[in-house]
Amino acid sequence: MGDAFRMQTDNGLIIECVSGDITAQPDMDAVVNAANAELRTGGGVAGAIHRAAGPELDAECRPLAPIRPGQAVITGAGRLPNKYVIHCLGPVYGVDSPSDQLLADCFRNALLRAEEVQARSVAFPAISTGAFGYPIQEAAEVSVATVAKELPSCTHLRRLRFVLFSSSDLQVYSQAFRAEFQSYVQQRKGRTP
Ligand code: ADP
Repeated sequence: MGDAFRMQTDNGLIIECVSGDITAQPDMDAVVNAANAELRTGGGVAGAIHRAAGPELDAECRPLAPIRPGQAVITGAGRLPNKYVIHCLGPVYGVDSPSDQLLADCFRNALLRAEEVQARSVAFPAISTGAFGYPIQEAAEVSVATVAKELPSCTHLRRLRFVLFSSSDLQVYSQAFRAEFQSYVQQRKGRTP
């Protein structure tokens, strides 16, 4: 876990990257699903979430489907230890375009859904980097930049977590956060009279 990232912003928001399973984040109000358009079970994150949450989640999802790339919808969490699941359809890399804008839309819309229910903590997986083929480095840069841009509008959020499935993915996302927030700190220093 040496490469895990954790920081606290000036207004007390904790941002962290950990390795683990998105279905095993009991201290988070909401977890994000790397969903398919039909909001059904499948491989990867969607399969893990639906298996852990059970048929109640499937029933809640059906009337909300299909969703478009970049869209995010929110449901309860069935048997998961969370209050909400936020389902995002990431872009299929190189097919749904522009992929970077659609991936950014996922994060922006997921954070909007979280704000609407006043969630205090949200955990994200690395959306689009599995079956949808988004290169991990590029996905990390887009995801982290979007989150950094949107955080000032998140008035209820106290904790934001990225849950990465492998230690190499953890390294990439942690490094992207370090780079993003280093420049943020430097910019703020530069503005200080
Ligand atoms: P997508 O279809 O959006 O690419 P996937 O679910 O195939 O979504 O994969 C997204 C990322 O989530 C991949 O990096 C994959 O390794 C990772 N992943 C798969 N299962 C889990 C899990 N249970 N918890 C956290 N991350 C997971």
